[in-house]
This record gives sequence, C-alpha cells and structure tokens, in this order.
Amino acid sequence: MAGRASSDALADALARQPRVALATVPTPLQEAPRLRAALGGSALAPRILLKRDDLTGLAGGGNKARKLEFLLADARRQEATWLITTGGVQSNHARMTAAAARIHGFGVSLVLTSPVEQPEVQGNLLLDRLLDADIRLVPPSDDPGAPTSGREAEAIERLVADLRERGERPYVIPLGGSNEVGALGYVAAAVELAAQLELADASPSRIYVAVGSNGTAAGLAAGTRLAGLGAAVHGVAVAGPALTTRDRAEDLAGRTVALLGLPDAPGAAYELDEGQVGAGYGRATAACLEAISLLARTEGVILDPVYTGKAMAGLVADVRARRIDPSETVVFLHTGGLPGLFAQAAVVAGGLAGGGEVSPGG
Ligand SMILES: *Cc1c(COP(=O)(O)O)cnc(C)c1O
Repeated sequence: MAGRASSDALADALARQPRVALATVPTPLQEAPRLRAALGGSALAPRILLKRDDLTGLAGGGNKARKLEFLLADARRQEATWLITTGGVQSNHARMTAAAARIHGFGVSLVLTSPVEQPEVQGNLLLDRLLDADIRLVPPSDDPGAPTSGREAEAIERLVADLRERGERPYVIPLGGSNEVGALGYVAAAVELAAQLELADASPSRIYVAVGSNGTAAGLAAGTRLAGLGAAVHGVAVAGPALTTRDRAEDLAGRTVALLGLPDAPGAAYELDEGQVGAGYGRATAACLEAISLLARTEGVILDPVYTGKAMAGLVADVRARRIDPSETVVFLHTGGLPGLFAQAAVVAGGLAGGGEVSPGG
C-alpha cells in the first residue's frame, strides 16, 4: 500500500498550496468507442478515453483554467492588483487569464504577438476584447513558426514600470502559465484522473497531451509519478525546440515536485513526439485537419488546429503504425482551444472533403 500512503501525502501537499476556484472540475472522462471503431476496432486500436479539460469553463474552457487557480492565488498572496501575461494573438492562455482576472478583481494586460498590425478580431482576440483586457500587440519573430518573438519581454518591462507608476502592483504570468506554480494545476489534474480511472477500472499505458510551453505535460508527469499512476505521459509537440523540449518539461516537473516539498517518485517515462509539428506553432498540418474532422464525425467532439488536432494526429499515427497494442488503454487529454478554430475557419474548412462547401437547399 505504499502508493496509497504517498497519495495521501500528495493530497495534503496540494491542499497546502494557495488556490482560488476557477475551473469546473472534475471534468468528464469519456469512452470514445466510435473513434476506436473508425481506427479499426478492438483488433487494431486501443481503448481510448477522452479527458475533457476543454470543459473547464472560464470563457470557453481549456487547460489554463487549472494552472490559473494556483497562479492567481500566488498573485493574491503577493498582494498584486494587476495581471500581465503574454502569448500569440490567438492565445487561449491570454483569454483565460483575462476571464480569471475579471472573476477575481484584477486589472489585466495582454502582450500578444501578431504578424499583422491589425489582426482580425476573431476567436480568442474577440473574447479578449469582450473581457475588456488591455491589449498590447508586438511584432512576431522572424521565424514564422515561433509562438513568441522575445520582443514581448521589453513590452512587459515597460508595462510593469507604467503600472507601478500608476500605483498598481503588477504580477507577471509567464507564457502559457508554465512555471512550477501553474504546473501544480496538472498535478491536481493527475490526482483527479487517477480517481476516475480507478472507478472506470482502467489502467492506461499512455496519456496523450499536446505540448506547447511544457507546463501541462510537466505537471502531469509530476502528478502521475506522485500519484503512482503507471501511465507514461506521451506529449505531442505543437511547436519546435525553441519552445518545446523533453528536457524543459522534465526540469519543470522536478521543480514542481520540489515546490510541493515531496521527494520525487520513480515512475513511467515522459515521452515527446516531435513528428506532428509541421511548419511550426499555429500551422495546421494535413494530419491535424484530418484528426479534427475524424473526432468531430465519430464522437461529436471538437478539437482545435493549433494544439489538440496535432495531439490527436499523433495518437492516430501511433495506432496506424501499430505502436500501441490493441489490448492497451490510452487517455487523450483534450486541452481545449475551440476559439482558435474560428480564427482559422478557412484553413479548417479547406481540410474538409469538398473544401467545406455547403450545398444549397432545395
Ligand atoms: C496552452 C495549450 C496547450 C499546451 O499546454 P502547455 O502547458 O503550454 O504545454 C494545449 N492545448 C491548448 C488548447 C492550449 O491552449
């Protein structure tokens, strides 16, 4: 019963961390039988469970809600009055930070990287505007596949100085909320998932998850080890090595365990699949578009073209290449991203049979 004792210690360590309420949890853990059938049925495909973190709420849902519960509590502990964060112009993290700021009474500024001076007010950017966030656009990197340019650091510094001059106390949340405080959200998610798996009588070999700024995978890796879940965290990179690497996630997982004050536990590996990145962050691949359409048609569940479509493409590719035994169970962590689908409507529709054209009625 060593696992049991350590999971009590884990629950206690988590309960000692400052946290505010933001996410609607537990999120459902759902069987995906029609997806399994479409991939060849039980002779060829594993049992697939969808962990629906797209349903966390917070102005459209997604994984950042769990991280922000710990980040906002830290901001409050430091008596901050204003949140600043950064990301691409269609950042889900920025949108959810803005919503979280509104709920908990912080001012909020978003430093967003945009390739054009006047980006279309659509998807996440539309929601940022509705949430009345202060939005500062900065030019992108010269690398078209990179999510950030390094120019946001200067913009953030200026903003911090301006806000202090106005008597505010700014709190800077890093890209994706991916530090050890934010990653605690996915340690808590691993504990939640472990309980659901026990009820479902399932012991998955792998948990598939999209990886951008590494915090989700790092928290999950730490949490699965500490909770004694045997599953390997199987990350699927959605960006190149400027952002997403195995070492960064492992390093962050170690710091997250240390923050909890627990000894690290041995456990299943953290694997990173770098085969689905394509042309880079935000650039949907054909396999990503196919995966989006496959899950919509089979399960009525909508993925996004930046993160979850690529993660599902990684799972589909592994099934087709027979890298997963059909006797196994896998979990697919749906991390959200729906607003980003609308910001790339033409790309997504172009991936459909017939280019997404709608027949006239008669
Ligand atoms: C941010 C995000 C991810 C990636 O999480 P990281 O912690 O940044 O690796 C995955 N999916 C969606 C929809 C996201 O918004």
